[in-house]
Amino acid sequence: GAFQRFFRKEGGYPKFKRRGDPIGLRETDVKCFSVDAANGRIRFPKVGWLRYRASRPIEGRAITATLRAEADGWYVSIACAFEPKALERGPKACGIDRGVANFAAFDTGQRIAPLDAHKRAVQCLRRYQRAVARKLEAAKVAAGIPKGKPFPKGFRLQPSNRLRKAQARVAKIHQGIARQRADFLHKLSTQIAREHALVCLEDLRVRSMSASAAGSQEAPGKRVRQKAGLNRSILDQGWTMFKDQLAYKLEWRDGVLVLVHPAYTSQRCHACAHTHADNRKGEVFRCRSCGHTDHADVNAAKNILAAGHAVLAGDGQALVEGEVQSGRPVKREPTEGVGHAA
Ligand SMILES: [Zn+2]
Repeated sequence: GAFQRFFRKEGGYPKFKRRGDPIGLRETDVKCFSVDAANGRIRFPKVGWLRYRASRPIEGRAITATLRAEADGWYVSIACAFEPKALERGPKACGIDRGVANFAAFDTGQRIAPLDAHKRAVQCLRRYQRAVARKLEAAKVAAGIPKGKPFPKGFRLQPSNRLRKAQARVAKIHQGIARQRADFLHKLSTQIAREHALVCLEDLRVRSMSASAAGSQEAPGKRVRQKAGLNRSILDQGWTMFKDQLAYKLEWRDGVLVLVHPAYTSQRCHACAHTHADNRKGEVFRCRSCGHTDHADVNAAKNILAAGHAVLAGDGQALVEGEVQSGRPVKREPTEGVGHAA
């Protein structure tokens, strides 16, 4: 929050940032406050009573309020302590492959398309970000700073109204993307946590670390390269948020999330365990040994589920130890342990 940031970087008292400062910095936690929900107001020290519009009722005892400035105004999130109710939970187990073409593919064959709104928003975002960059560059030239040189230290730019408006537009698009993503992910993760006692995912941190050494696992699909950059980072964020939400929503229900080692989940035939990079061509999985065919992501999800069961049975190496015939280095890193959280 703002407190930590302030002490670390600037060593002063936290204060609310001024209009025009980067939105992301304007966030602060408050421990001392009182809520009068009946009258829809909240009191902060030195500020007094403020009216608020509640998105949902406060349950239990309010502990911390987080104040946050967004593109269209102030938001307060209140963390509460309450006795958890018994939540419904189904008995099923599932493996989920998180990917680009499909946001999530289940071992059952079900596939969840990525949020299309992202693609459009990213294009829109790029356009307005260029507009901001152009206006900043123009302001630089107007202030007598040579083109391409950064603003000198301590220089305070007096932003034009056009620059401010362009920055506000960019902030608004970011806000929209964040909200759409949160909505999409919450609906999906809630549904999955309700239906399952066990959910298995790949540990993507391991995958991104090993990707450079082993070569990209998705090499046949050119999508990964094309989607580098902004779109990619949005996807990555979505994958991480999805995992985090599943972790706590499963924990609420005494369910279990298992993160498995991602090695060869997409190359290994679920039917006969033959593992070869050529088994997978884009979206199609066709085993070179037994001829088994499946959707590539669904085959991976089945392997992820099997690896999750192996981890629970104490045989976490099962997937990693598979014989590999692609000539690539065999990875023998230990599989990440079982846990409720990641
Ligand atoms: Zn096979």
